[in-house]
Amino acid sequence: MKTVCALLTFQPFDSSRVLAGRTLESWLTEALERSLPGVARHSLGPFGSASELIAALEALSQGYDELVIVGADCPFLRSDVLSEMLVLHREYRADFTFADGYPVGLTCEILRPAILSILSAWAAERSGPVERETLFELLSVDINRFDVETQLSPIDLRVRRLNLTAGVRRDFVLLERYAGDVALGTEAFLQRIEATQERSRTLPATLHVQITDGVLQVPVWSPLPQFVPDALERRGMLSRQRWNDLLDRALAWAGDLTVLPSFWGEPSLHPEVGGLLSDALGKPGLKLCVETSGLGWRQVDLASLAAQAAGRIDWVVELDSDLAETYKAMRGEGFDEAHSFVRRLLPLFPGHVWPQTVRMNTNEEEMEGFHKHWKEEAGRVIIQKHNDFGGRLPRAKPSDLSPWKRHPCWHLARDLSVFLDGTVVVCRDDFARTQPLGNAWTENPAVLWERGTPLWRQHVNEQWPEVCRNCDEWYTFHF
Ligand code: SF4
Repeated sequence: MKTVCALLTFQPFDSSRVLAGRTLESWLTEALERSLPGVARHSLGPFGSASELIAALEALSQGYDELVIVGADCPFLRSDVLSEMLVLHREYRADFTFADGYPVGLTCEILRPAILSILSAWAAERSGPVERETLFELLSVDINRFDVETQLSPIDLRVRRLNLTAGVRRDFVLLERYAGDVALGTEAFLQRIEATQERSRTLPATLHVQITDGVLQVPVWSPLPQFVPDALERRGMLSRQRWNDLLDRALAWAGDLTVLPSFWGEPSLHPEVGGLLSDALGKPGLKLCVETSGLGWRQVDLASLAAQAAGRIDWVVELDSDLAETYKAMRGEGFDEAHSFVRRLLPLFPGHVWPQTVRMNTNEEEMEGFHKHWKEEAGRVIIQKHNDFGGRLPRAKPSDLSPWKRHPCWHLARDLSVFLDGTVVVCRDDFARTQPLGNAWTENPAVLWERGTPLWRQHVNEQWPEVCRNCDEWYTFHF
């Protein structure tokens, strides 16, 4: 059996970086030498497209019977799991073998190089960035066509969504927290991970920033009237200097972030919104997600933002309905302008425009049509579950999709939210500021984040503070 190994990189990273006294490269080399002694290893990537990925794998695996694929940023690769996967792959003469239920970074993928020519055609039709899941997503186009084997984790940790990889800083922190446990056998290591959930809140991924406290509409699903009754008249604005200062400090600390400038306000109301978004796009490592009613954007130069964005800005346009009558009942005036805005965005930001509806009893019958229409026209759509904000709004969701067992909230693990006056809370749902973490204009982001740790511990111990008790947003997350 002739085997070759590809070490894939998905984003630039430094393999000479030191983790617990050793370079990342030496961690990985040791694991590979134990499980694949004498097998040639080649570094590939990052890739600009899925086609590039498949072409590189095809070129590398010419003349080989099997291709083992590992992430170059996975210092905790388990050599015993890799060896078991090779046995499985060979015994069942599989086309593709993957692992399920493990944290990302502990396992590999193995494929028969002959299937790459099939994937090549599918890759040509796939747009968007190349990520760790891209290969599996390509196979999933018609997975029944292949003989696929699965290595199941003895402990199913899927729900934890853990990344034991070195690609971004928040995951590197997790590696540091577990470096002392890696010497355990795989099952004991997984048990340790399962028993130490308090370690998994590392650094935030999502930063909500209120750039204005005014809105142009108050949808029926919004709790705004409860805490800003005059939101339609308000026009408080965040200064450009504060915006840049906050983003620079947060980015320097967290390493990468997705920023949502729509925190309890309509971003288009900010007179400098184009400049704010452009400033943010000028900061490497930062992505934007703009949630908007789609109203008020006529004067903004979207074309120059598109030229600058290179896939780093997503637009979520709250439409709620494709029917003018329902739209008016749920949101008020603006049906034509909001729908035109989506059509203005689509050619400028292909693959990054998400028409959204909040699924409620009111529009339930329209869901299928809304989904079908925007899937066809925009390629993507968001059907958002109704949020009753822990009982502060009447319950209006037609069905309950929450997992049967409650886990610590994703927003607590991944978000920071900043009001116009600098007050920081963990999530959008704490609009009453019951759990303030401090002030973003006077304190440093690391200190503010650290103040969320006791709250996180409470969640890990299944103790829910008042604001969280009846909230059902804990299983949703942004980025
Ligand atoms: S449970 Fe709800 S209120 Fe509590 S942190 Fe999560 S989103 Fe916020």
